[in-house]
Amino acid sequence: YAERFGGQLVLVTGAASGIGRATAFAFAEAGARVVAVDRDAEGAARTAELARLIGAPAAWGEAVDVSDEAAMEKLADRVAAEYGIVDVLVNNAGIGLSGSFLETTSEEWKQVLDVNLWGVIHGCRIFGKQMADRGQGGHIVNTASAAAFQPSRALPAYSTSKAAVLMLSECLRAELAERSIGVSAICPGIVNTNITATTRFAGADAAEEQRLRKRTTRLYGRRNYPPEKVADAILEAVVRNRAVVPVTPEARGARLLSR
Ligand code: NAD
Repeated sequence: YAERFGGQLVLVTGAASGIGRATAFAFAEAGARVVAVDRDAEGAARTAELARLIGAPAAWGEAVDVSDEAAMEKLADRVAAEYGIVDVLVNNAGIGLSGSFLETTSEEWKQVLDVNLWGVIHGCRIFGKQMADRGQGGHIVNTASAAAFQPSRALPAYSTSKAAVLMLSECLRAELAERSIGVSAICPGIVNTNITATTRFAGADAAEEQRLRKRTTRLYGRRNYPPEKVADAILEAVVRNRAVVPVTPEARGARLLSR
Protein backbone atom coordinates (compact mmCIF):
# COMPACT_ATOMS: atom_id res chain seq x y z
CA TYR A 1 0.00 0.00 0.00
CA ALA A 2 2.87 2.37 -0.75
CA GLU A 3 1.56 5.94 -0.77
CA ARG A 4 -2.01 4.65 -0.34
CA PHE A 5 -2.32 6.54 2.95
CA GLY A 6 -0.34 9.63 1.92
CA GLY A 7 -1.75 12.75 3.53
CA GLN A 8 -3.85 10.76 6.02
CA LEU A 9 -3.67 10.88 9.80
CA VAL A 10 -3.75 7.48 11.50
CA LEU A 11 -4.04 6.97 15.27
CA VAL A 12 -3.17 3.56 16.71
CA THR A 13 -3.65 2.60 20.38
CA GLY A 14 -1.50 -0.01 22.05
CA ALA A 15 1.20 1.11 19.62
CA ALA A 16 4.22 0.46 21.85
CA SER A 17 4.22 -3.27 21.21
CA GLY A 18 3.02 -6.20 19.10
CA ILE A 19 0.14 -5.74 16.68
CA GLY A 20 -0.23 -2.01 17.38
CA ARG A 21 3.43 -1.28 16.74
CA ALA A 22 3.44 -3.34 13.53
CA THR A 23 0.29 -1.50 12.42
CA ALA A 24 1.83 1.91 13.11
CA PHE A 25 4.85 0.87 11.01
CA ALA A 26 2.68 -0.46 8.16
CA PHE A 27 0.74 2.83 7.97
CA ALA A 28 4.06 4.72 8.14
CA GLU A 29 5.33 2.73 5.15
CA ALA A 30 2.10 3.56 3.35
CA GLY A 31 2.82 7.27 3.79
CA ALA A 32 0.48 8.17 6.66
CA ARG A 33 1.16 10.56 9.49
CA VAL A 34 0.98 8.44 12.64
CA VAL A 35 -0.09 9.06 16.23
CA ALA A 36 1.20 6.19 18.39
CA VAL A 37 -0.79 5.97 21.62
CA ASP A 38 0.09 3.73 24.55
CA ARG A 39 0.08 3.86 28.33
CA ASP A 40 3.78 3.05 27.97
CA ALA A 41 5.10 6.55 27.21
CA GLU A 42 8.62 5.50 26.24
CA GLY A 43 7.34 2.72 24.00
CA ALA A 44 4.93 5.09 22.24
CA ALA A 45 7.73 7.59 21.65
CA ARG A 46 9.99 4.84 20.31
CA THR A 47 7.33 3.63 17.88
CA ALA A 48 6.83 7.20 16.64
CA GLU A 49 10.56 7.66 16.14
CA LEU A 50 10.85 4.43 14.14
CA ALA A 51 7.70 5.28 12.15
CA ARG A 52 9.41 8.48 10.99
CA LEU A 53 12.51 6.52 9.98
CA ILE A 54 10.34 4.07 8.04
CA GLY A 55 8.66 6.79 6.01
CA ALA A 56 5.92 8.55 7.95
CA PRO A 57 6.07 12.26 7.04
CA ALA A 58 5.36 12.90 10.73
CA ALA A 59 4.72 10.76 13.80
CA TRP A 60 4.04 11.47 17.45
CA GLY A 61 3.98 9.33 20.59
CA GLU A 62 1.20 10.01 23.11
CA ALA A 63 1.07 8.50 26.61
CA VAL A 64 -2.60 7.77 27.34
CA ASP A 65 -4.51 5.05 29.17
CA VAL A 66 -7.39 4.21 26.80
CA SER A 67 -9.67 3.23 29.68
CA ASP A 68 -9.47 6.79 31.07
CA GLU A 69 -12.34 8.64 29.37
CA ALA A 70 -11.17 12.14 30.35
CA ALA A 71 -7.66 11.40 29.09
CA MET A 72 -9.08 10.15 25.79
CA GLU A 73 -11.18 13.33 25.43
CA LYS A 74 -8.07 15.43 26.05
CA LEU A 75 -6.09 13.36 23.55
CA ALA A 76 -8.75 13.86 20.88
CA ASP A 77 -8.83 17.63 21.48
CA ARG A 78 -5.04 17.87 21.37
CA VAL A 79 -4.72 15.75 18.23
CA ALA A 80 -7.45 17.74 16.45
CA ALA A 81 -5.85 21.06 17.39
CA GLU A 82 -2.27 20.12 16.61
CA TYR A 83 -2.33 17.43 13.90
CA GLY A 84 -5.86 17.44 12.47
CA ILE A 85 -8.87 15.12 12.42
CA VAL A 86 -7.99 11.44 12.46
CA ASP A 87 -8.77 9.64 9.18
CA VAL A 88 -8.09 6.13 10.46
CA LEU A 89 -8.45 5.09 14.09
CA VAL A 90 -7.15 1.70 15.24
CA ASN A 91 -8.49 0.79 18.69
CA ASN A 92 -6.01 -1.93 19.44
CA ALA A 93 -4.83 -1.60 23.06
CA GLY A 94 -5.77 -4.68 25.04
CA ILE A 95 -4.76 -6.90 27.94
CA GLY A 96 -5.03 -10.64 28.49
CA LEU A 97 -6.69 -12.49 31.35
CA SER A 98 -7.04 -16.25 31.60
CA GLY A 99 -8.51 -18.54 34.25
CA SER A 100 -11.66 -20.12 35.56
CA PHE A 101 -14.84 -18.03 35.47
CA LEU A 102 -15.60 -18.94 39.08
CA GLU A 103 -12.11 -17.97 40.24
CA THR A 104 -11.98 -14.64 38.41
CA THR A 105 -12.70 -11.79 40.83
CA SER A 106 -14.95 -8.88 39.92
CA GLU A 107 -11.89 -6.64 40.16
CA GLU A 108 -10.17 -8.76 37.48
CA TRP A 109 -13.30 -8.71 35.27
CA LYS A 110 -13.40 -4.94 35.68
CA GLN A 111 -9.75 -4.49 34.72
CA VAL A 112 -10.10 -6.44 31.49
CA LEU A 113 -13.42 -4.82 30.54
CA ASP A 114 -12.09 -1.34 31.35
CA VAL A 115 -9.28 -1.66 28.82
CA ASN A 116 -10.57 -4.10 26.19
CA LEU A 117 -14.17 -2.86 26.04
CA TRP A 118 -14.37 0.64 27.52
CA GLY A 119 -11.12 1.68 25.84
CA VAL A 120 -12.69 0.78 22.48
CA ILE A 121 -16.00 2.47 23.33
CA HIS A 122 -14.23 5.71 24.28
CA GLY A 123 -12.12 5.66 21.11
CA CYS A 124 -15.10 4.92 18.83
CA ARG A 125 -17.36 7.53 20.38
CA ILE A 126 -14.87 10.37 20.80
CA PHE A 127 -12.93 10.04 17.54
CA GLY A 128 -15.98 8.72 15.62
CA LYS A 129 -17.85 11.92 16.53
CA GLN A 130 -14.97 14.06 15.24
CA MET A 131 -14.93 12.10 11.96
CA ALA A 132 -18.71 12.35 11.58
CA ASP A 133 -18.72 16.10 12.33
CA ARG A 134 -16.02 16.72 9.75
CA GLY A 135 -18.14 14.96 7.13
CA GLN A 136 -15.30 13.58 5.02
CA GLY A 137 -15.52 9.90 5.92
CA GLY A 138 -12.89 7.84 7.67
CA HIS A 139 -12.35 4.39 9.08
CA ILE A 140 -12.32 2.77 12.51
CA VAL A 141 -10.63 -0.58 13.12
CA ASN A 142 -11.14 -2.44 16.38
CA THR A 143 -8.87 -5.31 17.34
CA ALA A 144 -11.20 -8.03 18.57
CA SER A 145 -10.04 -11.67 18.57
CA ALA A 146 -10.95 -15.18 17.43
CA ALA A 147 -11.93 -15.49 21.10
CA ALA A 148 -14.88 -13.19 20.26
CA PHE A 149 -16.66 -16.09 18.55
CA GLN A 150 -14.76 -19.20 19.70
CA PRO A 151 -15.70 -19.87 23.32
CA SER A 152 -13.28 -21.47 25.72
CA ARG A 153 -13.15 -22.15 29.43
CA ALA A 154 -9.64 -20.69 29.43
CA LEU A 155 -10.60 -17.11 28.60
CA PRO A 156 -14.07 -16.19 29.94
CA ALA A 157 -13.48 -12.52 30.74
CA TYR A 158 -11.19 -11.83 27.78
CA SER A 159 -13.56 -13.56 25.32
CA THR A 160 -16.52 -11.66 26.72
CA SER A 161 -14.70 -8.34 26.24
CA LYS A 162 -13.84 -9.27 22.65
CA ALA A 163 -17.34 -10.52 21.79
CA ALA A 164 -18.63 -7.14 22.94
CA VAL A 165 -16.06 -5.38 20.73
CA LEU A 166 -17.22 -7.45 17.75
CA MET A 167 -20.87 -6.54 18.30
CA LEU A 168 -20.25 -2.85 18.95
CA SER A 169 -18.18 -2.73 15.75
CA GLU A 170 -21.06 -4.17 13.72
CA CYS A 171 -23.59 -1.79 15.28
CA LEU A 172 -21.34 1.23 14.72
CA ARG A 173 -20.65 0.10 11.15
CA ALA A 174 -24.40 0.12 10.46
CA GLU A 175 -24.74 3.61 11.98
CA LEU A 176 -21.75 5.21 10.24
CA ALA A 177 -22.12 3.69 6.76
CA GLU A 178 -24.24 6.62 5.56
CA ARG A 179 -21.44 8.99 6.58
CA SER A 180 -18.84 7.02 4.62
CA ILE A 181 -17.07 5.92 7.78
CA GLY A 182 -16.15 2.25 7.69
CA VAL A 183 -15.82 0.09 10.80
CA SER A 184 -13.87 -3.17 10.88
CA ALA A 185 -13.34 -5.80 13.57
CA ILE A 186 -10.06 -7.71 13.26
CA CYS A 187 -10.08 -11.19 14.77
CA PRO A 188 -6.67 -12.87 15.08
CA GLY A 189 -5.94 -16.19 16.77
CA ILE A 190 -2.67 -16.34 18.71
CA VAL A 191 -0.07 -13.89 17.44
CA ASN A 192 3.59 -13.62 18.42
CA THR A 193 3.48 -10.59 20.73
CA ASN A 194 4.11 -9.70 24.38
CA ILE A 195 0.50 -10.39 25.39
CA THR A 196 1.18 -14.08 26.00
CA ALA A 197 3.86 -13.19 28.53
CA THR A 198 1.81 -10.46 30.23
CA THR A 199 -1.54 -12.30 30.37
CA ARG A 200 -2.63 -12.76 33.98
CA PHE A 201 -4.02 -16.03 35.29
CA ALA A 202 -6.87 -15.68 37.75
CA GLY A 203 -6.68 -18.07 40.68
CA ALA A 204 -4.43 -20.59 38.86
CA ASP A 205 -1.44 -22.45 40.29
CA ALA A 206 1.51 -23.36 38.02
CA ALA A 207 -0.02 -26.67 36.87
CA GLU A 208 -3.39 -25.07 36.12
CA GLU A 209 -1.63 -22.26 34.23
CA GLN A 210 0.06 -24.88 32.04
CA ARG A 211 -3.32 -26.49 31.31
CA LEU A 212 -4.87 -23.14 30.44
CA ARG A 213 -1.98 -22.27 28.11
CA LYS A 214 -2.32 -25.64 26.34
CA ARG A 215 -6.04 -25.21 25.93
CA THR A 216 -5.56 -21.71 24.52
CA THR A 217 -2.95 -22.96 22.03
CA ARG A 218 -5.20 -25.84 20.92
CA LEU A 219 -8.13 -23.52 20.21
CA TYR A 220 -6.43 -20.37 18.98
CA GLY A 221 -3.07 -21.47 17.58
CA ARG A 222 0.62 -21.48 18.35
CA ARG A 223 2.54 -18.30 19.07
CA ASN A 224 4.23 -18.09 15.71
CA TYR A 225 1.88 -15.86 13.69
CA PRO A 226 3.73 -12.58 13.00
CA PRO A 227 2.08 -9.30 14.05
CA GLU A 228 3.11 -7.81 10.69
CA LYS A 229 0.59 -10.08 8.96
CA VAL A 230 -2.16 -8.80 11.26
CA ALA A 231 -1.09 -5.26 10.39
CA ASP A 232 -1.42 -6.11 6.68
CA ALA A 233 -4.92 -7.42 7.35
CA ILE A 234 -5.77 -4.15 9.12
CA LEU A 235 -4.64 -2.01 6.17
CA GLU A 236 -6.53 -4.25 3.78
CA ALA A 237 -9.67 -4.02 5.94
CA VAL A 238 -9.48 -0.22 5.63
CA VAL A 239 -8.81 -0.21 1.88
CA ARG A 240 -11.54 -2.77 1.11
CA ASN A 241 -13.89 -1.68 3.91
CA ARG A 242 -14.17 -5.17 5.38
CA ALA A 243 -16.55 -5.77 8.30
CA VAL A 244 -15.29 -8.74 10.30
CA VAL A 245 -11.86 -10.13 9.45
CA PRO A 246 -10.71 -13.47 10.89
CA VAL A 247 -6.94 -13.36 10.46
CA THR A 248 -5.04 -16.49 11.45
CA PRO A 249 -5.87 -20.04 10.21
CA GLU A 250 -7.35 -20.89 13.63
CA ALA A 251 -9.56 -17.82 13.54
CA ARG A 252 -10.75 -18.64 10.02
CA GLY A 253 -11.58 -22.20 11.11
CA ALA A 254 -13.19 -21.26 14.44
CA ARG A 255 -16.29 -23.16 15.40
CA LEU A 256 -18.45 -20.16 16.29
CA LEU A 257 -20.65 -20.67 19.31
CA SER A 258 -21.55 -24.21 20.32
CA ARG A 259 -25.10 -25.23 19.48
P1 NAD B 1 0.99 -6.51 23.37
O1 NAD B 1 0.93 -6.78 24.82
O2 NAD B 1 2.23 -6.85 22.63
O3 NAD B 1 0.61 -4.99 23.07
C1 NAD B 1 -0.46 -4.36 23.72
C2 NAD B 1 -0.11 -2.91 23.93
O4 NAD B 1 -1.25 -2.26 24.52
C3 NAD B 1 1.05 -2.71 24.92
O5 NAD B 1 2.00 -1.82 24.37
C4 NAD B 1 0.38 -2.11 26.16
O6 NAD B 1 1.21 -1.20 26.88
C5 NAD B 1 -0.80 -1.40 25.55
N1 NAD B 1 -1.88 -1.19 26.51
C6 NAD B 1 -2.41 -2.08 27.37
N2 NAD B 1 -3.35 -1.50 28.12
C7 NAD B 1 -3.41 -0.21 27.73
C8 NAD B 1 -4.19 0.91 28.14
N3 NAD B 1 -5.09 0.79 29.13
N4 NAD B 1 -4.02 2.08 27.51
C9 NAD B 1 -3.10 2.22 26.52
N5 NAD B 1 -2.32 1.20 26.11
C10 NAD B 1 -2.49 0.00 26.70
O7 NAD B 1 -0.26 -7.32 22.77
P2 NAD B 1 -0.84 -7.53 21.29
O8 NAD B 1 -0.96 -8.97 21.11
O9 NAD B 1 -0.13 -6.72 20.31
O10 NAD B 1 -2.30 -6.95 21.53
C11 NAD B 1 -2.91 -6.00 20.72
C12 NAD B 1 -4.39 -6.32 20.59
O11 NAD B 1 -4.55 -7.54 19.89
C13 NAD B 1 -5.10 -6.51 21.93
O12 NAD B 1 -6.37 -5.90 21.87
C14 NAD B 1 -5.24 -8.01 22.02
O13 NAD B 1 -6.31 -8.40 22.83
C15 NAD B 1 -5.46 -8.36 20.56
N6 NAD B 1 -5.21 -9.74 20.21
C16 NAD B 1 -3.99 -10.31 20.43
C17 NAD B 1 -3.78 -11.62 20.09
C18 NAD B 1 -2.45 -12.30 20.33
O14 NAD B 1 -2.40 -13.52 20.35
N7 NAD B 1 -1.37 -11.59 20.51
C19 NAD B 1 -4.82 -12.37 19.52
C20 NAD B 1 -6.04 -11.77 19.29
C21 NAD B 1 -6.22 -10.44 19.65
